[in-house]
Amino acid sequence: MTVSTCVSAAKNGRILIVGATGFIGRFVAEASLDAGQPTYVLVRPGPLDPSKADIIKALKDRGAIILQGVISDKALMEKLLREHEIEVVISAVGGATILDQITLVEAIQAVGTIKRFLPSEFGHDVDRADPVEPGLTMYLEKRQVRRWVEKSGVPYTYICCNSIASWPYFDNKHPSEVLPPLDQFQIYGDGSVKAYFIDGTDIGKFTIKTVEDIRTINKNVHFRPPSNLYDINGLASLWEKKIGRTLPRVTITEDDLLTIAAENRIPESIVASFTHDIFIKGCQINFPVEGPHDVEIGTLYPGESFRTLDECFNDFLLKLEDKLELEKNKVSNKTNAVVETRAVTATCA
Ligand code: NDP
Repeated sequence: MTVSTCVSAAKNGRILIVGATGFIGRFVAEASLDAGQPTYVLVRPGPLDPSKADIIKALKDRGAIILQGVISDKALMEKLLREHEIEVVISAVGGATILDQITLVEAIQAVGTIKRFLPSEFGHDVDRADPVEPGLTMYLEKRQVRRWVEKSGVPYTYICCNSIASWPYFDNKHPSEVLPPLDQFQIYGDGSVKAYFIDGTDIGKFTIKTVEDIRTINKNVHFRPPSNLYDINGLASLWEKKIGRTLPRVTITEDDLLTIAAENRIPESIVASFTHDIFIKGCQINFPVEGPHDVEIGTLYPGESFRTLDECFNDFLLKLEDKLELEKNKVSNKTNAVVETRAVTATCA
């Protein structure tokens, strides 16, 4: 069955987000709610760890409708999509379950009324980028999902948002959850290869903008805001300016990254292979956005600005200040406790 590629999702169409308890999916779910879209969130059944339960509660409190299920259950997914009259499906499943999306595509195709599907991409253009293993396996799987989507006739959009705004640690798949370095910088190669760093809230916001935009049907949407293009030397200088001191720099060579990738530790080696592709080979910048299936987000929404990397690093600085304040309080509480204990002991004696 072929679904018409001319239809775009209606304004305020119902959006189902898969993976909203995850790192990227949460940004997307929050942006969907911010935009006033009827937002449905698929949650895997079973016991939840407390942090995930908190995320679901927060989304629910903001109006999200929680559905239970897994995307590898085709019959259930068909039922949910039909019953809730979903128009747009956005998947942000993690690296381990990329191929489960093939069953989801089959369910979407069978339902026949879904106006847009966004598979779990949220990184590089996987048909162009060429990381070494083990990152390559993930890209082969993402490419496989792309081919299923294209064959299905379901209108799609591939979000190529490049790197998340953060210090790009070579061994951390969610680097924006930690502060940039405070002891030393590890510079990849000569540190001169540029990449795009996008704030998580902008990944969510612009992803949601694309879903009802006819110009993004069957397109790779590339996120390339000029204000967020930095090499790692520039990133280090920016952070030094924020913290008001310089840090030593050590070089992580191309061979170092390839060695870590070859160790095949998951997920660290996957991240190392992407780090090599980005900061040694230049996979984010070594092609122009000009193919018939390519569109740059800035040209679509010229009036909309991205949070700059400078602003994002200000956020990290605030987090650092909070952390230092907390540590200071802990030390002073401990000191007070010791003084009080001694005082009590003295009184009792
Ligand atoms: P996470 O592992 O953080 O989250 C995955 C989410 O998907 C969780 O909510 C998980 O649910 C859910 N999920 C997984 N499998 C299923 C399934 N079969 N059915 C229903 N739900 C499922 O993923 P990430 O956010 O790290 O990755 C998402 C995408 O973003 C990936 O494509 C990844 O490559 C990309 N990415 C991009 C980054 C960048 O810098 N550009 C950084 C990190 C990721 P549960 O809570 O039950 O586990």
